[in-house]
Amino acid sequence: MQCPHCSGLCASVDTICPTCRHSLGKGLTQAKLANLTAVIFAVLMIAFIVHTNMSRPPRRDEMTAVNITNAPFIGGSLVVGRVVGWLLGALVCRS
Ligand SMILES: [Zn+2]
Repeated sequence: MQCPHCSGLCASVDTICPTCRHSLGKGLTQAKLANLTAVIFAVLMIAFIVHTNMSRPPRRDEMTAVNITNAPFIGGSLVVGRVVGWLLGALVCRS
């Protein structure tokens, strides 16, 4: 295969181009990193919510309200994680 950056020849198993050392998009890409940090942020937010709920268990009839309140927080942390990952990817995965 050919490197998209320098058009140098490289093996299909290479993750970086042997000629110009650019990523060939198989390793950690900016998009992958953004997805990864989004998931990590969401998991951290879920863990935080579960932890706070355990220290003060909501009543059964409160559960629905608590879940409705938590959903935007988890969704929000997904968005924040994605933005952080995107910025991080811009620094790490220079191409
Ligand atoms: Zn190259």
